[in-house]
Amino acid sequence: MRAYQLTAWQQPPELREVPVPEPGAGEVLVRIGGAGACHSDLHLMEWPEGVVPYEVPFTLGHENAGWVEAVGAGVRTVEPGQPVAVYGPWGCGNCKRCRLGMENYCEHAAEIGAAGGGLGRDGGMADYMLVPSERLLVPLEGLDPADAAPLGDAALTPYHAIKRSLHKLEPGTTAVVIGVGGLGHMAVQLLRELSPASIVAIDLDDAQLEHAREIGADHVVRSDGEAAEAVRGHTRGKGAALVVDNVGVDGTLALAAQVTRPLADISIVGIGGGALPVSFFGVPQEASVQTTYWGTVPELREVLALAAEGRIHVTSTRYALDDVAAVYHKLEQGEVRGRAVMVP
Ligand code: NAD
Ligand code: ZN
Repeated sequence: MRAYQLTAWQQPPELREVPVPEPGAGEVLVRIGGAGACHSDLHLMEWPEGVVPYEVPFTLGHENAGWVEAVGAGVRTVEPGQPVAVYGPWGCGNCKRCRLGMENYCEHAAEIGAAGGGLGRDGGMADYMLVPSERLLVPLEGLDPADAAPLGDAALTPYHAIKRSLHKLEPGTTAVVIGVGGLGHMAVQLLRELSPASIVAIDLDDAQLEHAREIGADHVVRSDGEAAEAVRGHTRGKGAALVVDNVGVDGTLALAAQVTRPLADISIVGIGGGALPVSFFGVPQEASVQTTYWGTVPELREVLALAAEGRIHVTSTRYALDDVAAVYHKLEQGEVRGRAVMVP
């Protein structure tokens, strides 16, 4: 089968021919129906060895859905032919957080090293993908795997970030989404569906802003020197109750601090490598600043339910797996609207 593998750090990944894996006891082989191209993969391609505790080679692709192809001994809850979404962060499965479905924060993550399929273990930019346990699969109801795949990260990650702050999004408040690409365009829709807050979308790119407006942003702001004032204007001077920063560079983090109000949440989702100096006068009083990482299994079920009900929708373009390198180039150039999905 074909597999798009990172074979060495800071080298372009390669589309290689590898054997189709056979599921051992407890494992499930999934035939890929869609694999989303996430900006995190671009970071992985750029980072030197040691930034993340993964060993190469491994197949990229951590937003995956498809059909169960074969099951190993003892697998009882899924059967061949069934459409499934693959939950991305793979923990130990046994610690308290994993038992609660919070494998994104597994207590043994440091010992395990690899974070999941496509992140140190073989992912879904391939014809097939081996999933270590049925507990990491969610049955798809009423969704095509190619449409569902990006939900596993591009929607799940902002869903988790937004859900923890919903109590702050009272009527009359404003939520700001910085960076309205793959994750951000889902963040806008999730805010629209889950909260009464007015939504401000910020991006460098006018086409991304136009798209954000079409899918529910109340106001759009170009990410430049006047952005903070524009956002404050859209909050009638009060400041935002939540900022979700899907970029995470120095400039966007500083902007987040400038546009929030006291008691707000600043949630850093983007892995842009920037820093936000936290000091008494540097951030609003009692503002909480946190990074958030992916989401939980129950939250993935919730996101899939919202999509199956037609309340959120991934803007996506489908590509053949043979075009995967060109697709990542497009993503790097900012030419992807929503998500690019590889369909083998
Ligand atoms: P994307 O490339 O699809 O979208 C990024 C968007 O940000 C684009 O629209 C781009 O124009 C915009 N942008 C870039 N620089 C900007 C700036 N200075 N100001 C405003 N907008 C700017 O990327 P994506 O797949 O949505 O991923 C976004 C980030 O989130 C990446 O850093 C990725 O690694 C990270 N990520 C984090 C998690 C997590 O669990 N924390 C999960 C997935 C992705
Ligand atoms: Zn665990």
